[in-house]
Amino acid sequence: MDIQKLLRNNIKNLKPYSSARDEFQGGTNAMVFLDANENPFENGINRYPDPYQNALKGLLSELKDVPKDQILLGNGSDEVLDIIYRAFCEPKEDNILILPPTYGMYEVLAGINDVAVKKINLTPDFQLNVPKILKAADAHSKLLLLCSPNNPTGNSFSAKDLGKLISEFEGIVVLDEAYIDFSEAESWVKQLDKFPNLIVTQTLSKAFGMAGIRLGICYASKEIIAVLNRIKPPYNVNILTQKKAIEQLQNKVLASNQISDILEQRKHLQIILKNIPFISKIYPSDANFILVKVDDATQRYNELLKLGIVTRNRTHEVGCENCLRFTVGTAEENKKLIEALKTLKAVLK
Ligand SMILES: *Cc1c(COP(=O)(O)O)cnc(C)c1O
Repeated sequence: MDIQKLLRNNIKNLKPYSSARDEFQGGTNAMVFLDANENPFENGINRYPDPYQNALKGLLSELKDVPKDQILLGNGSDEVLDIIYRAFCEPKEDNILILPPTYGMYEVLAGINDVAVKKINLTPDFQLNVPKILKAADAHSKLLLLCSPNNPTGNSFSAKDLGKLISEFEGIVVLDEAYIDFSEAESWVKQLDKFPNLIVTQTLSKAFGMAGIRLGICYASKEIIAVLNRIKPPYNVNILTQKKAIEQLQNKVLASNQISDILEQRKHLQIILKNIPFISKIYPSDANFILVKVDDATQRYNELLKLGIVTRNRTHEVGCENCLRFTVGTAEENKKLIEALKTLKAVLK
């Protein structure tokens, strides 16, 4: 597959901004930096951040066993995804494929970039309709967005279906693995060498407990990452985020203990929720949330809100009529959810 042919025309020959830190890299603390018009008085944040986040990428590279030149970091996954759209999609001409119900940002980003959206709904049990997806693609279908484990449904797609789509779709496949650390499924990051059209995105916002610092990650071939690097704003990941991410990632035990805790709580919640009379279905989850079907999602959402519990009403998503999404909280928070659910009337008037 020729990645260069898939690129937007203006991107093929784009000359990126050359920042001060592009033109002079490295050096020691003893050097005098008079190149970037920074304020010289040290306060920990007076210098521009490393535009390529070398220290942080080094850690991620070890953690995920992916070379540094196959990693791009951004201000949350949303920025990473936006950069991907801008690399490949010609506004008013190209289209992307999404598979509802799924993460809302994919469609919003298409709107922002003026790119058409083709929707191929998941099956009623939230699986991929592989032949239909492949049939919907045309010569202008540049991106296929897959989310596994999927938000808001919680399930993972089969490796066989994903493999077939990645092999046969003639554009870029973006596989959003925001919830992969809660799943037993293997990440596709290990398969990048086999699939030149695959981009895997991950985030520090969920399992790693750092939604507040905004760090999105994308893994792809060296060739794709080189293109995305030319598009990204020069200093898109700030110094505080880089520092904090490094600090937290070094504490591997903390994240893995928290993930085990959340998984245990998920299992516990799934069992208890079965006893709530107005919950008719608990969808299987490979993520840190559970989708349930109730009698009237909007009413139950409002009742829970009155009891101080904020959930997500997904009733307007395709295939999710009367569904609520519960994030798995701490043991104490989940207990409050269960207690609240138990106080609600079993049958609505
Ligand atoms: C939460 C989430 C993300 C993470 O987005 P960030 O911008 O990195 O916080 C990405 N994709 C999906 C499907 C999500 O649910």
